[in-house]
Amino acid sequence: MTASPPARRVLLAAPRSYCAGVARAVTVVEQALKRFGAPIYVRHEIVHNKHVVKTLEQKGAIFVDEATEVPEGATVVFSAHGVAPTAHRQAADRFLTVIDATCPLVTKVHKEAVRFARDDYDILLIGHEGHEEVIGTSGEAPDHITVIDGPEDAATVEVRDPDKVAWLSQTTLSVDETMATVAVLKDRFPKLASPPSDDICYATQNRQSAVKQIGADADLVLVVGSANSSNSVRLVEVALEAGAGAAHLVDGAEQIDDGWLADVHTVGLTSGASVPDILVDEVLDWLAARGYREVVVVRSAEEHQHFALPRNLIAVPPLPQRKGSADRSETE
Ligand code: SF4
Repeated sequence: MTASPPARRVLLAAPRSYCAGVARAVTVVEQALKRFGAPIYVRHEIVHNKHVVKTLEQKGAIFVDEATEVPEGATVVFSAHGVAPTAHRQAADRFLTVIDATCPLVTKVHKEAVRFARDDYDILLIGHEGHEEVIGTSGEAPDHITVIDGPEDAATVEVRDPDKVAWLSQTTLSVDETMATVAVLKDRFPKLASPPSDDICYATQNRQSAVKQIGADADLVLVVGSANSSNSVRLVEVALEAGAGAAHLVDGAEQIDDGWLADVHTVGLTSGASVPDILVDEVLDWLAARGYREVVVVRSAEEHQHFALPRNLIAVPPLPQRKGSADRSETE
């Protein structure tokens, strides 16, 4: 008698999908549309996810690269990744109403940068050059901040005074890689000052520890997220480091290649912090249709974080519903 093949199953990571900062940023744009009316201008992608951006565009959001592209007097939302003070000045020059959807955990890093710069530290900001969050944080103290991307940069970066150096980091990095970079810095600068609390945010850390758990047992890990989402890209790397046979980043079920499932019994599934869970559900349906019906949730942490909406947003009452649109929804 031949043994039956092992059952196909999915290890579903938890937590996954929206973090509190992304949930708040998306709600800010939706509420701005309700309170100010369309169009609402949004500087940069509100969060790094194609599906979210497209859905908000359909509701009346217009995404721009700079506040200088927004018509004078209009309303602009700043994205979750944060902005440099120059963006606020550009908005003021154009008399824009600014609704700042910067994640409070990014704002915390900005404040740390300002504080260290005020004390005249050289600040080594661990992060990816060119990422919006890094541009925003660097803009708080451009004369004091140097961006370093990994242990190699840490080994060669030059500072004015080795006794007066501090490190900060982007919020969405790999925890392990960042600690390796910090170790090199501490070796070179024994008096290195650290941020008062972790800059890598709770959501990034929780999603990485969940994918570590599923990665160790999965033949294949699928990470739902967009290619420009730093925390999603990190999840692929962490899954592979944890021992996954293969790991792929997909925007949604339509990007999964059937060929990836050859000889795969256990699929690990997770998603970045900017991904709505509906996209994960679609992947679960796609997998179920191919025999992966058993779903085991692997939870690494509970999350109860919630951030209040910006005060200048909730101070504005929603616009009255137009008669035409009310009539239409009644007859649909
Ligand atoms: Fe905020 Fe972290 Fe979410 Fe970024 S990933 S928006 S820092 S909670």
